[in-house]
Amino acid sequence: RAKSRQRAGHFFFSRSMGVEIRERVRMMHALRSGFQRGELFLAYQPQVDLAANRAFGAEALLRWRTEDGRLVGPDRFIPIAEYSGLIVDIGEWVLRQALAELVRLRAAGYLDFTMSVNVSQVQFRHQHFVDMLRRALDDTGAPPEFVELEITESMAMEEPALLVEKLAQVKRTGVSIAIDDFGTGFSSLSHLQRLQVDRLKIDRAFVTEITGSARGSSIAEMVIQLGRNLGLSVIAEGVEDERQAHILRSLGCPLAQGFLFSRPLSPEALLGWLGKAQTEAA
Ligand code: C2E
Ligand code: MG
Ligand code: MG
Ligand code: MG
Repeated sequence: RAKSRQRAGHFFFSRSMGVEIRERVRMMHALRSGFQRGELFLAYQPQVDLAANRAFGAEALLRWRTEDGRLVGPDRFIPIAEYSGLIVDIGEWVLRQALAELVRLRAAGYLDFTMSVNVSQVQFRHQHFVDMLRRALDDTGAPPEFVELEITESMAMEEPALLVEKLAQVKRTGVSIAIDDFGTGFSSLSHLQRLQVDRLKIDRAFVTEITGSARGSSIAEMVIQLGRNLGLSVIAEGVEDERQAHILRSLGCPLAQGFLFSRPLSPEALLGWLGKAQTEAA
């Protein structure tokens, strides 16, 4: 009896696994051809200076509009792009696209504007990553001092020695580095100090908690303090309401992004939003 139950369980397990793998393979093919057909595009979310209440940059966020018109979020397809290795080509395309947008924004007069681009661990680890970055900067003519790459905290924790060296190479191109989703991993102070990073992004989860219990703001507070002590810039992500923005200001958080200020926008809408923000400030 026990044996047959075990076998039945095993059968069920492998069948559902099969379904999952088949679904993943299906999505991988759809993504590959969708990428070639031009179904991927970027949305740009403004990043603001909390004290001056003005935008200083934007984060490029990847979107996929499938053949049948559905919008698929990056949380769903990036793992598949990583798993299949497709992220190397997609990531290069994202970078070039975002840099070209930065150049267009500069041509429209936004000369102080920074462009932030997410980089996957698989892409970053690729042996030609730094060459690729250099070529993308050269080809697009984007000024590296206005380009920021976002790597995740979990990624920053792996293979310390290799990472330190790679980050140093990246930094030599002139771009800056932000640690995304900060607070979710376990970076030690000493490790963080060895990495040549410029900015910490407080994960949305800790921004959401800020208005909850008395201790809700403790992680955000700690990251802000850490940034101050290490001389790093700090930005809060996922700011959705005025109360959160108010508390962040009072904690001394200099920068933020989130739905309160703007959702991720098309290039045209971003220009419109920036223009409107400028007239309001004037
Ligand atoms: P992330 O880099 O931490 O990006 C922040 C995510 O939070 C984005 O989701 C953004 O749309 C969303 N967000 C921004 N403000 C708010 C807010 O006020 N409230 C809420 N609820 N959400 C907000 P999105 O665009 O779905 O991206 C999810 C993740 O996918 C990103 O997290 C990033 O890790 C990854 N990703 C996006 N684009 C790329 C890309 O080009 N390359 C790579 N490798 N990863 C990307
Ligand atoms: Mg990001
Ligand atoms: Mg983030
Ligand atoms: Mg996040």
